[in-house]
Amino acid sequence: MTEFAVAIDLGGTNIKAALVDRQGASFAPYLAPTGEDLSPAAVIERLAQVVELLRTRAVEQGNAKMIGVGLGCPGGVYPNRAVVSQSPNFPGWHDVNLRDPLEARLGLPVLLENDANVAALAEFQLGVGQGVDSMVLLTLGTGIGGGLILNGRIWQGAWGMAGEIGHITVEPDGPRCGCGNRGCLEALASGPALVRQAREGISRGEGHTLIRLIGGDINAITPQKIYEAALLDEELSVRLLNNSAKYIGIVIASVLNLLNIPLFAIGGGISAAFDLLGPQIRAEVRRRAYRVPAENVRIERAALGNDAGTLGAGLLVHQEFGGGTRRSET
Ligand SMILES: [Zn+2]
Repeated sequence: MTEFAVAIDLGGTNIKAALVDRQGASFAPYLAPTGEDLSPAAVIERLAQVVELLRTRAVEQGNAKMIGVGLGCPGGVYPNRAVVSQSPNFPGWHDVNLRDPLEARLGLPVLLENDANVAALAEFQLGVGQGVDSMVLLTLGTGIGGGLILNGRIWQGAWGMAGEIGHITVEPDGPRCGCGNRGCLEALASGPALVRQAREGISRGEGHTLIRLIGGDINAITPQKIYEAALLDEELSVRLLNNSAKYIGIVIASVLNLLNIPLFAIGGGISAAFDLLGPQIRAEVRRRAYRVPAENVRIERAALGNDAGTLGAGLLVHQEFGGGTRRSET
């Protein structure tokens, strides 16, 4: 008998899903648009359909037992892994209970968790986290997400919103962040922040290589193009990525001094530039953190890519309903 979790990564654009077994192998991957109607009732209906579809596929595999549904979603989940308190991808949602209606409809236990938290759990069990007890995952993309694993488990914090490493202040009077604060790491080192800084540089007459790479279209600037220009040693793009690495290093040094976490993994789209960012981040951490942790901490690129969220949602179900952490058996 193989125990499966239905694992779902709920995004504002797509629903990604798969069956995940106890060892973290995934089957029957499924991708569908989240839909035009983002009301809670419509999303619950869509999620229920996805679970039913995957349940059918599990039955087709034969000898399968479904143990629950894991649902990773952007934003805060509080309390009891049942309620989305707020989400950047579902702006009208306030305290939406996804768990209870899904459980009633499906007859299966359902767990909600923040998407970066479940991605961190996947990296911990299947990716770069093998061999450590605790780690932090930073996801660098449109936003900067974070997940914190302490002694093998997701640290949710008292209100379910722990791990928001992107909203640590690095410049007290810095640019306004989407969260309402000023000078958050996300406001200075996310993809949109890099693009904004590149435009500012170009308006000052810098960035000739970048301008060439984007064919002169300032709306075509992406973090990837900035990275490509930096690989060609363009001053502006190198400086922007170095600044970004400096801010990330400041945050890691602070978290490192606070918790002595042995591994920081960097994921998300901008981690494609890790060959340039990594050495600068490590140098900044050595400049700022205590010597022993700074010399021993691992700062590495995450290993699992875009599947981490789905895998982690499944692994969480196995951890909670399947009899504990199984990493030692994998
Ligand atoms: Zn913020």
